[in-house]
Amino acid sequence: MKILYILPLALMLSCCSSVKNQSTTGSGKLDNQLLKDVEVLSSDAYQGRKTGTKGTEMARAYIVDRFQKLGLKSYPQNVNYAQEFTFNSRGGAKVNGTNIIGYIQGKGTNVIVVSAHYDHLGVVKDEVFNGADDNASGTAGLMKIAEYFAKNKPNNTIIFAAFDAEEMGLQGAKAFVANPPVPINTIAIDLNMDMISHSDKGELYVAGTFKYPNLKKYIDTTRKDIKVILGHDDPKLGHDDWTNQSDQGAFNAKNIPFLYFGVEDHEDYHKATDEYSTITKQFFSDAANAVLEVVKSIDKQSGLQQSLKDKMLMMDNPRKSEKF
Ligand SMILES: [Zn+2]
Repeated sequence: MKILYILPLALMLSCCSSVKNQSTTGSGKLDNQLLKDVEVLSSDAYQGRKTGTKGTEMARAYIVDRFQKLGLKSYPQNVNYAQEFTFNSRGGAKVNGTNIIGYIQGKGTNVIVVSAHYDHLGVVKDEVFNGADDNASGTAGLMKIAEYFAKNKPNNTIIFAAFDAEEMGLQGAKAFVANPPVPINTIAIDLNMDMISHSDKGELYVAGTFKYPNLKKYIDTTRKDIKVILGHDDPKLGHDDWTNQSDQGAFNAKNIPFLYFGVEDHEDYHKATDEYSTITKQFFSDAANAVLEVVKSIDKQSGLQQSLKDKMLMMDNPRKSEKF
């Protein structure tokens, strides 16, 4: 009899300890579509998605196909979601870039921009820089968020902006804010993802609340699956202030509030080894969920409407204090 009692107890103990282990290392649920999007975009066929190359054209075709299947709308001036722009590279050459801009209409005129750059570094010295974390991961996160809001209509209009030429100096985001598809003073916030899939420590940073402390209330820093850490946004940090180091910088330059989601630089950052096999898949699935929760929380807060009004007042009169 004793043995019969001991056996189920042992089974129970082993069951509970494995559940406990899972809760300290993640939710245990992998998001297959999210992973598939990264695996495809960072495969060798896409040749590292350098702006102006065949690889980036292929990436664009993949994203456009996903946007179409999700039923995202395209603004009339952008044929098939394409916002084309031209810029001078650091070497002075004229380069053509293409942002991919889809949207889901909300109830009012307020707009949330969810963004991620889809370009990367291309082929360097015969090696493909696949850019799985940087930034196939943010692009996949953007499509995951679009998929959620395609099924659950948002209160605010959400623009899904897959930017080109970030690696050449935030060029796509700069082109977007210079020529936005909606009046710029209706854009309440930019929520930008750049590198959300690779953290051995399970840490996702959110930058932006140093400048906009009122945004803290939309961010859950008590998640059990990953650590969500506010920071990397104090100008005193110098190079560790990430405010202007990805596309949110172009929005910040126009005084549009922002949150940036990303991980610390890792050993594969801007190397040929930033590929699908090296991303931390459980962390990535959980991090994408964490970003989605922030977008949902910002979209549903009734305070957003008031904050937007305050912000627009502030834009009419720049000396008024920032509220959002
Ligand atoms: Zn990047």
